[in-house]
Amino acid sequence: MHRLAILGSTGSVGTSTLDVVARHPDRFEIVALTAHRRIDRLYEQCARFRPAYAVVGEAHDALRLNATLRQAGLPTRVAYGQDALCDVARSAECDTVVAAIVGAAGLRPSLAAARAGKRILLANKEALVMSGALFMRAVAEHQATLLPVDSEHNAIFQCLDQARGGQGVERLILTASGGPFLRRAPDSLHEVSPDEACAHPNWSMGRKISVDSATMMNKGLEVIEAHWLFGMPPERIDVVIHPQSVIHSMVAYADQSVLAQLGVPDMRTPIAHALAYPARIASGVTPLDLARLSGLTFETPDPAQFPCLRLALNVLRDGCQASVALNAANEIAVEAFLYGAIRFTAIAEVVEDTLLRWPIDRHGADLDDILAADARARAHARQSVRRRGALRPAAAALY
Ligand code: NAD
Ligand code: MG
Repeated sequence: MHRLAILGSTGSVGTSTLDVVARHPDRFEIVALTAHRRIDRLYEQCARFRPAYAVVGEAHDALRLNATLRQAGLPTRVAYGQDALCDVARSAECDTVVAAIVGAAGLRPSLAAARAGKRILLANKEALVMSGALFMRAVAEHQATLLPVDSEHNAIFQCLDQARGGQGVERLILTASGGPFLRRAPDSLHEVSPDEACAHPNWSMGRKISVDSATMMNKGLEVIEAHWLFGMPPERIDVVIHPQSVIHSMVAYADQSVLAQLGVPDMRTPIAHALAYPARIASGVTPLDLARLSGLTFETPDPAQFPCLRLALNVLRDGCQASVALNAANEIAVEAFLYGAIRFTAIAEVVEDTLLRWPIDRHGADLDDILAADARARAHARQSVRRRGALRPAAAALY
């Protein structure tokens, strides 16, 4: 029986995780669930899964949730804020932490889980992008187990010959769908709306990662994630566009065998794999019907169409602080785009603008350095958003 804390349980990965968990009450027990603002959804999850703890973002939401839980006679104890997230991540009552918070907010709790030697199911790629060396060191020093949930990394994990420690691996090949604007003329991209950017052709995901997929920043973040997870130098990680999203990634070996992992694009497959690893369990996902596939195609991404991908691939060369700055600027730019304050094409401009002012720093960084660089980069990026002018008057107040 695994005892789980699901950080970010109300999100896309969080709800998919609970869907798989509900199919296997004999294997999993829920100890803690967390949400930022979606208190009603968190209440429903608490009523169904009866965790010992629930964590929310703010005090007033904690009071509200607590009152509703008490009224219903439910036993869940409520806390709020980053420290409470870290407390549940390191609690002796859970052995497994599902890190499914979006963005930099997931860093401290994910790191707390690593330092407590937990089994970590990592979806929160931003944590690894920000703190790769530090995070992997914490995993090793505290004998934590890191299981990738991101579909590409989970596919690679499955294709690596675990028993032989990855011996003979030549390249990792990350597949990318190309997102909703793959066939769109680059000179029309400045006019796309947030809803168009979030309408991913194959995957249903949260809004931030959906925009990242449309800019292909997501694939850049995933190359950085793969570099840290698998200890692979960036020049041996390839990105190939595969619009059907059936092959989730591949590993090429020295003898030119290429192993791939296939399945319909549904996060419940990598989640079920990581939840039960090394066992295999039912995920609820529709079986892959090979005869009904019209074909599997591959192409090289065009750097002119996807400047965010180029920016992300460059930062690995420039050290930890550059990765932190890239991630922070991207979070600010994506939020500003979703809010209607800047155009889609300005996301890459804000990120580049922030990186250009960033000193190259090849030294290691501790958590305080990382959080300080994150705060500085956010301030730069907000200025850059302001310079680009608010599209909606209300947005001006925010940036
Ligand atoms: P989402 O927006 O659907 O959900 C995010 C979750 O994090 C919610 O529960 C929300 O309440 C919580 N959250 C948001 N801001 C927070 C804050 N400041 N403090 C604490 N909690 C906060 O996101 P998602 O699509 O589920 O993605 C989650 C993570 O998984 C991201 O890092 C994403 O890149 C990664 N990921 C997602 C998918 C996918 O299919 N959705 C696939 C691969 C990787
Ligand atoms: Mg992915």
